[in-house]
Formats: sequence, structure tokens, C-alpha cells
Amino acid sequence: MNHVVVVGAGLAGVRSVEALRARGFAGTITLMGEEAHRPYDRPPLSKSVLLGETDSTVVDSDLDALEVDFRAGVAAKGLRPGVVETTEGEVAYDGLVIATGARPVRLRGDGEQHVLRTIDDALALRERLVAGTRVAVIGAGWIGAEVATAAARANCAVTVVEAADLPLSQALGPVGAHTARWYEQAGVELRLGVQVASVDHDGLTLADGSRVRADVVVTGVGVRPAVEWLAGSGVELDNGVVTDEHLRTSLPGVVAVGDCAAWWSRRYGRRLRVEHWDTALGAPEVAVAALMGGDAVYDPVPYFWSEQFGHMVQYAGHHDDELLVLRGDPATDPRWGACWVREDGRLAAVLAVNRPRDLLQGRRLIEGGQRLDARRLADPAVALRDC
Ligand code: FAD
Repeated sequence: MNHVVVVGAGLAGVRSVEALRARGFAGTITLMGEEAHRPYDRPPLSKSVLLGETDSTVVDSDLDALEVDFRAGVAAKGLRPGVVETTEGEVAYDGLVIATGARPVRLRGDGEQHVLRTIDDALALRERLVAGTRVAVIGAGWIGAEVATAAARANCAVTVVEAADLPLSQALGPVGAHTARWYEQAGVELRLGVQVASVDHDGLTLADGSRVRADVVVTGVGVRPAVEWLAGSGVELDNGVVTDEHLRTSLPGVVAVGDCAAWWSRRYGRRLRVEHWDTALGAPEVAVAALMGGDAVYDPVPYFWSEQFGHMVQYAGHHDDELLVLRGDPATDPRWGACWVREDGRLAAVLAVNRPRDLLQGRRLIEGGQRLDARRLADPAVALRDC
């Protein structure tokens, strides 16, 4: 293998380059990304960047020392075995890493709608968050909550509309209800069970015909894997790039990592596509090993964090309908959490609100697969590792 091409210059892309060199790959590496920027981190975009604390989140990686041919502003348009078609011509490869991440979903309507995926998105939105501005945020998921936090901090008049009956319902199910009071405490109006019909010039039209007037609309209703360029390439697609447990795609010599990859998880016995920073950080090492002929398995306990309304929210694992045990009383204690426990007493997932130690211990317990006493879990005074 003489030439590896990495498509997508986000965290997963740059980590792939680092992993290739760390494994001793001495051939040519081309890293291409459609954005005009050096690789940067996205989590701070909805936190410190929106809050005006920083303007740059460039990843601390020395591309010169890595001897990578970095091509900013170049997009892949198509793929056939051995060749990536790009906006600047064809690039032949021996090994290919697909790391094209995901793109935000936009809603119907002629009005301007901000999304938050890139540094340009964040800087453009930040400029609009000035005192007194009416901001409508669509979606009370992770991004919506963080945008609402920043907008409220800037003294905007913020309304968050959410189609589900709870905030964070997709990620946390009923537990998300306990975050609703944070909106109220921050002076943010939270409207639940509300469907948006369209984004218009002066705000939102809801499905029942009523209006939400706004100067700025931010759509935070999720993302789709950025894999349209792979259509017809022979790479199997199904909610992202389908990979095996080694992160190999259906095309020889091609691996996929980060937000765009739907990998087979041995741990959960199902395919997972996880839009988390930690996955973009960790998966490239395994994918690159596979590209170089190894057979390491990617099987992490997924981990995510969010900073919203002054709270550090951390989640590890993966849950469906396991037994839910609350740790502490969210109504009275700012430090609380939740555990999802399987029938066999093993921990499936843990949520820690302002309880970083719970997260660390919970993640280890999930990895180790120890059986726990669900009654002890409910007592927040008992350390998770002692349950
Ligand atoms: P990306 O970072 O999306 O990078 C993919 C790159 O590929 C992009 O630059 C894109 O332009 C480029 N690209 C796409 N198509 C093409 C093409 N055809 N040709 C060339 N280039 C292409 N995760 C957490 O765990 N905690 C958080 O608090 C958190 N906060 C977040 C806040 C925001 C605002 C956002 C957007 C994400 C956040 N995430 C968070 C998620 C985390 O940032 C992502 O999981 C991570 O960035 C995924 O990295 P990636 O490299 O797979 O994809």
C-alpha cells in the first residue's frame, strides 16, 4: 500500500492520518476536506465559540510533521474502486478512509434558518445572538439545548419548540423530562409537543397554523450521514457506511470512521452509528489497523457529554427499554443521574448530571459487565462501583 486517501478532514479524518503514521505507514497520505479550514473540533462550536470565549477550535495536530498532502476545499464527488472523483479531478488510492461525517437536516420554508455544524455556522450565529433578539430554536436535543443556553446567556428572548413531549427524549427517554426545569430557570420558553410546518421570514409556522415570531431561527433537529458521494460506488450504505467490526466497508481497501460509519458492535449485537466526538477520536486507530492488514475490533462503550444551562451532562453506554433507576432527586439536587440496568443485573447505560465520578465508574462497570444491585444504585450516596 503506497497511497492512502482520507476523505473528510474533521476529527476522524485527522486522527486517521495520525494513526497511519503512528503505525509506521511511510507512503503518501492525502487528506481532503470540502471545508476551507484546517481540521477543527466541533463540540466547542455550541459552547465556548457561541459564548464568545474563543474563535478557533483547530485540532492540535502538526500536519506538516505528519507529511500529509492536505487539500482544503476539495470535495469527493464519487468513488469507483481505486479512484476518488473530486471537485479537482481524480485521485487514485491503494487504501481509502471515509470520514465525511454528517450534515444537519433543514426544515421546509423560505425563511433563513441557521444550523450548527461548522465553525462558519457558529460564527455567523454568534453574531446574531444579541440582547433582545427573538431566537426560535427548533429541537430540544443536545444541540438545541446548548444553543438555547448561549442565546439565553446573551440575553436573547429564546423559545425552544420540540416535537416530542420531553426534551432530549430520543437520547434519554423519560429521563429527559428532568431537564425541562433548566429551560425555565434560564428564562427560556420551552414548548413541547409542537410540530413546525415551515420556517418563514418572520419566524415559524406551526402545524396547527399558529406562529412563533422570531428574528433568528436555529434548526437543531439532527443530522444525516454525508455519504451521498458514495451512491453507486459499491460501498454498502444503510444509515451511513455499513462496516464490519473492524470498520471495513464492503469494498476492499476501504474503511469508514466517525459520524458517517455504521459499524457492527460485538458488545451490543447490532449495528451502531454514533455521532459522538469520542467515536471520531477512537475509531481511526482500529480502522487504520484494518487497512494495514490487522484485525483489531472496534467495540467501545459509546460516550457523550453536553454542557447545557450550567450543567455537565454525561452519558455512556446504550439503552433500549432496560430497568431505569434514578440516582438522586433531580428536583432538589443539581447532582443526579440515572442508570439503565439489564435483566441480568448488568449496567447498560449511565447518565451523570454534574457527577463525573459516576460517569467514570459507570463506564468501567459497563465495560467490565459486573452485576449490580439495582436497589443500591438508587442511593446517590453509594458509589457506583460499590453497588
Ligand atoms: P465531521 O466532524 O463532521 O467531519 C467530516 C468532515 O468531512 C467535514 O469537515 C465535512 O465538511 C467533510 N466532508 C463531508 N463530505 C465531504 C466530501 N464529499 N468530500 C470532502 N469532505 C467532505 N460530541 C460529543 O461527544 N460531545 C459534545 O459536546 C458534542 N458537541 C457537538 C457540538 C456541535 C455543534 C456539533 C456539530 C457536534 C458535536 N458533537 C459532540 C459531535 C462531534 O463533534 C462529532 O461526533 C464529530 O465531529 C464527528 O467527527 P467526524 O470527523 O466523523 O465528522
